[in-house]
Amino acid sequence: MRFKLLRHLFQTTVARCIEEGLVSGQRMAVDASLIEADANKQNSTPKDDWDAGQIDPADAPRAVREYLDTLDEAAFGAASEVQPKFTSHSDPASQWTAARKGPAFFSYSDNYLIDTDHGVILDVETTRSIRQAEVGSTKTMLTRVKDKFGLIPSWMIADTAYGSGPMLGWLVDRKIDPYIPVIDKAGRPDGTWIRTDFDWDAENGQYICPEGHALKQFRRNYSDPNRGPTGKGTAKYRALKLTCQACPSKPRCCPNADARSITREEHEDARQVARDLAKTDEYVIAMKLRKKVEMLFAYLKRILGLGRLRLRGPCGVNDEFLLAATAQNLRKLAKIFPAPQQLRKT
Ligand code: SF4
Repeated sequence: MRFKLLRHLFQTTVARCIEEGLVSGQRMAVDASLIEADANKQNSTPKDDWDAGQIDPADAPRAVREYLDTLDEAAFGAASEVQPKFTSHSDPASQWTAARKGPAFFSYSDNYLIDTDHGVILDVETTRSIRQAEVGSTKTMLTRVKDKFGLIPSWMIADTAYGSGPMLGWLVDRKIDPYIPVIDKAGRPDGTWIRTDFDWDAENGQYICPEGHALKQFRRNYSDPNRGPTGKGTAKYRALKLTCQACPSKPRCCPNADARSITREEHEDARQVARDLAKTDEYVIAMKLRKKVEMLFAYLKRILGLGRLRLRGPCGVNDEFLLAATAQNLRKLAKIFPAPQQLRKT
């Protein structure tokens, strides 16, 4: 009930910002920030000794019961099968993280979806501090903002953490342009040609190498199952061995293999859309607009003082994040109304 009330309060500020013309809904940005949980390492258990099954829910504090309740949720327990190195006794849903190259601590992630016109926060989501949960919250927030306010952006702006194939595919399927750097592991340490040096021939479903030869997924006389989908959403394309053996560019292409092969990810079309957008002038603008969400987090921590949480458990943390975002939106609204004039005494 309390949670619904605070969400309603926050959404009221969003509705008012829309009414006052502070939100166009055209360009949105998303990011996450780690906020330290009210938990410490002295009161924690290493992963080998932790067994959630031993907790008696009837005898557990509220934060621990909330942890048990969220074990199957995509934003918490189900976000990853990897066990954290330590689990806090007082707030087990918080994540032990050494992310962002600093000393490790227990934290939650505060996820913001903002409209970049005036930096109004359109939605807030609390997640575990791991990338899968943070990225997954983008879908939750975009869907909620569409359902509640009818807002669907043309641009979605984010940093590399959000540039996975499935995330880009989800956006492109909804006709949202992803101004997001693509996560690309196609680089080759030996300096030979990488996938982007090969042209994708969509009409014929094949790659064309820099020497103009085709790399195909299937050839009539081959029945090698390795050339089909791998079951992991990737497909393999190969050049003809005879062609590669006679090719003058073989040392730059595949010096240690009989023939060159390339894998294609399931969402490669969407990844290509993002790569093409990254070459446009709009992309430069988008990367500047992305700073607005970082500035909101900086304000949250430095000015509003939310460097460390006061409440424990996913619900308590969510309350704090919603209230802080409400305050930040109210500040935007306060700026558009002129301050009351002081009457001068005569
Ligand atoms: S080695 Fe094969 S795939 Fe590579 S450029 Fe030559 S013909 Fe094309």
